[in-house]
Amino acid sequence: MTFSIHGLAVARGIAIGRAVLVASSRVDVAHYFIEASQIEAELQRITSARQAVMQEVQRLHQSVPKDAPPELAALLEVHMMMLQDELLADGVKHWVTDRLYNAEWALTSQLEVVTRQFDEMEDAYLRERKGDLEQVVERLLRHMKGLPTTLPQPTPRKTSSWQQDQLLDDSHDVPLVLIAHDLSPADMLQFKQSVFTGFVTDVGGKTSHTAIVARSLDIPAVVGARNASQLVRQDDWVIIDGDAGVIIVSPSPIILEEYSFKQRQAQLERERLARLKNTPAVTMDGQKIELLANIELPEDTTQALAMGAVGVGLFRSEFLFMGREGQLPDEEEQFQAYKRAVEGMKGLPVTIRTVDVGADKPLDRTTKDEAHLNPALGLRAIRWSLADPSMFLSQLRAILRAAMHGKVNLLIPMLAHAREIHQTFQLLAQAQQQLDRRGVAYGPLRVGAMIEVPAAALSLPLFLKHFDFLSVGTNDLIQYTLAIDRADEQVAHLYDPLHPAVLHLLANTIAQGAAAGKEVSLCGEMAGDPAYTRLLLGLGLRHFSMHPTQLLRVKQEVLRADTSRLAAWAQGVLNADDPSAALLS
Ligand code: PEP
Ligand code: MG
Repeated sequence: MTFSIHGLAVARGIAIGRAVLVASSRVDVAHYFIEASQIEAELQRITSARQAVMQEVQRLHQSVPKDAPPELAALLEVHMMMLQDELLADGVKHWVTDRLYNAEWALTSQLEVVTRQFDEMEDAYLRERKGDLEQVVERLLRHMKGLPTTLPQPTPRKTSSWQQDQLLDDSHDVPLVLIAHDLSPADMLQFKQSVFTGFVTDVGGKTSHTAIVARSLDIPAVVGARNASQLVRQDDWVIIDGDAGVIIVSPSPIILEEYSFKQRQAQLERERLARLKNTPAVTMDGQKIELLANIELPEDTTQALAMGAVGVGLFRSEFLFMGREGQLPDEEEQFQAYKRAVEGMKGLPVTIRTVDVGADKPLDRTTKDEAHLNPALGLRAIRWSLADPSMFLSQLRAILRAAMHGKVNLLIPMLAHAREIHQTFQLLAQAQQQLDRRGVAYGPLRVGAMIEVPAAALSLPLFLKHFDFLSVGTNDLIQYTLAIDRADEQVAHLYDPLHPAVLHLLANTIAQGAAAGKEVSLCGEMAGDPAYTRLLLGLGLRHFSMHPTQLLRVKQEVLRADTSRLAAWAQGVLNADDPSAALLS
């Protein structure tokens, strides 16, 4: 039966494909596709893990004390039975052989299939066995990761065994869409090279970092879809409408036809926009506008150039630091990455932002920072860098060295205090001295500050005195001004770029920057949303940095704009009680 689920639209377009569910697991699981030649080895990894876990459970079973509650031995027997069950093994084999999933992903996918069958069972006892199965799979995953496996908690037991349906056999040529409860930014990045034609997650806000990476992939995505990962089943046909933020599950032929038509229209629109690639971004009244790219990896420079970006306005360097299980990249590795980005831009400037981890960008694939009460207000971005000077110094040295190979700007995130500014410049001077002592060459840097904490936006003279340029990070500026967690879909309706408080901070930053003769750019998601282009131009913004995928749409708005007329209108929007209504006037 056809049904729809509503979420937040984060990346435009229509995707139609079969659902691939990425099950959430308590163990951090990597998801990637293997080569056909690796199938045997991957299956062998699962067999070895099963054998090892089996031996371990048998050992535990034998060592259960005579006076222990009888449930404990019985529980371990259930686990042994599940480990030996050929149906579980066959299902896992299907995911590896037919879909080319890596072993861990195959295990969690099969777990998802089977647990849903448990959920539907009439018999309460059988339904409860789901927890046992989850523990067994978790033991296998932990074993494969080399983690200690934990003793399961006993649960009340009756009798019986469990069953599963045969899986649909399928070829791997159909388009696939990914449905997950949550995906970390690092997970998303991993899927960058993958075959998925669309993404859906249950959680996340419009400017959560997962949504930002999804947007950079330029494929339709919906986040904050609440319980999509519960409602959609493996292999369901799904339409993702990334414009409306809607997911349609098991569409009827008529709906399918309508969306296929929309998909073709969107493709035609892309082809039309592509013609603007080499057109200079100049407004009707002759104002030159700089349209720059936001990138996550050095390889993204190819796309940036392909879309006609005139430089990189934000290289989020933290993506080099993620998913490395604590092994941070050293100076040399970072230098090579920055140099690749600089060379990739072929002489155009590259703004490298120092590492901004924390909040919804954890270093590893765990989905949320649960150790801290308010991670967005915690040790994040420059605070993290200043807390570990030797790590920060190696990043600064790497960036300084990369500046030998092209125009490089250094950008510092999340600054709020004069003390942080001074410490940053002291460490920059120290990094230069260290390179001098080593006799290593480095290039000149322009140094900029991100304005993304209201405290910074309210103490601009301090920032304008010390920095060569400012870059407004509206994603965080909105979050911190309105006290709305940008990654929390439950308050997403309150996350408002047009709130008068936000607009005043933004307008004031642009105006004070212009008065001081310093460049102000905007690199938050607002810069890449064509709905705001005219307003930002009217407020005096001349430097926009966005995902390359947004660039041509924004350029189209720039080409149609007349800033001499927009300025007065923008002041009206700024002072309106309801700026979103005034924006449409
Ligand atoms: C911002 O906050 O607007 C920004 C560009 O930085 P990030 O999204 O990486 O926090
Ligand atoms: Mg930010």
